[in-house]
Amino acid sequence: MNQISKNTPNLDNFWMPFTANRQFKAAPRLLAGAEGMYYTDIDGNKVLDGTAGLWCVNAGHGRKKIVQAVERQLSMLDYAPTFQMGHPVAFDFATRLAANAPGGASAGLDRVFFTGSGSESVDTALKIAIAYQRAIGQGTRTRIIGREKGYHGVGFGGISVGGLVNNRRVFPQIPADHMRHTLDLERNAFTRGLPAHGVELAEDLERLVALHGAETIAAVIVEPMSGSAGVILPPKGYLERLRAIADKHGILLIFDEVITGFGRLGTPFATDYFGVIPDLVTTAKGITNGTIPMGAVFASRKVHDGLMTGPENAIELFHGYTYSGHPVACAAGLATLDIYEEEGLLTRASELAEDWQEALHSLKGLPHVVDIRNLGLVGAVELASRDGAPGARAYDVFVDCFHKGLLIRVTGDIIALSPPLVIEKEQIGTIVSILGDALKRAA
Ligand code: PMP
Repeated sequence: MNQISKNTPNLDNFWMPFTANRQFKAAPRLLAGAEGMYYTDIDGNKVLDGTAGLWCVNAGHGRKKIVQAVERQLSMLDYAPTFQMGHPVAFDFATRLAANAPGGASAGLDRVFFTGSGSESVDTALKIAIAYQRAIGQGTRTRIIGREKGYHGVGFGGISVGGLVNNRRVFPQIPADHMRHTLDLERNAFTRGLPAHGVELAEDLERLVALHGAETIAAVIVEPMSGSAGVILPPKGYLERLRAIADKHGILLIFDEVITGFGRLGTPFATDYFGVIPDLVTTAKGITNGTIPMGAVFASRKVHDGLMTGPENAIELFHGYTYSGHPVACAAGLATLDIYEEEGLLTRASELAEDWQEALHSLKGLPHVVDIRNLGLVGAVELASRDGAPGARAYDVFVDCFHKGLLIRVTGDIIALSPPLVIEKEQIGTIVSILGDALKRAA
């Protein structure tokens, strides 16, 4: 399976993202079809999707309702601008999102700015935060605080506030300051759900405020549950404490919910899961079930209205994308929300969370497993590094799993799992069984 086969296309010209290109092209893994919980590779082998693509295909693959909505929209209005112009489907989708916004109606996060991706949503939220502070007479607040190991996409704004070393070190950044890591891993190993220890790590924000002065800080951005760093869960009380410190100092709080948005934790958003209300929420991925590239930023009325000042005919925010509110993406998004609602998918992870947790933690004790973490329908299995080759063992497990019919994701020594929310209990068993066997072979 998946050596160079007669079905392999020419691989020379596509410069693949976040990929060891030379290694991949020597032994490619190529997917040609997808339906429900499964991919099919170019040679017809089935591969169980343990990662919802890249954390995005929450309703499973090949959803006909989305296909039909896209076809309809493409033939009716394929593209139209949203700069000083508009089209109904973008307003309809914003209205629909607002009715189901993070934190519910009382949170007031119901003003929606459309983007084309998670990275664009992050850059948009950072710019809104700085522009808002300026609009309310706080123009010295230009600094943004992010977190060590934070991942906020790959735009220059996103890498500036992100804390994954590899993503930053080659590139110049805008000024941003960093809080510490969220989790004291040693004290929390094999914790089920949220770690009990580590709430005091939020106090680092106070330290940075004291260091730089609140009057220089516009916002703090965090992933409520960080995914790309290898599934790092916030300790109990941590996000509440961040909110309190931010409030005390007039600092906006941004939740990057590109992964956690649209049901991943068993509530519509992580904002709902934790009951902590930020000022801005970034989303993408699950907003269209991964089908058409799209993102959205939810802004609070306070932030939105703060920017709607000045003369009537003046543009309030000098920012936007050719594809902001793309009609086809909005149509896909509306159909996606229909599916999520009709099938109860935004809360399905909470129904499966217990089984998911038990299944994952059954891997405890297998060779090299040093930690297992879980929340909603997210899981991480952390392996001990092979001497002198960090990440190599997990990569071998990833390749092995793929050839046995399971797609997982690895970052460094951490295996991350985030299956589509339509997964059945028996498929949870399949994931754990294929992964468990691969871990034994890796020994
Ligand atoms: N923020 C977070 C929290 C993410 O996980 C990601 C992508 N994994 C992004 C931003 C970037 O999204 P995109 O790849 O769509 O630009």
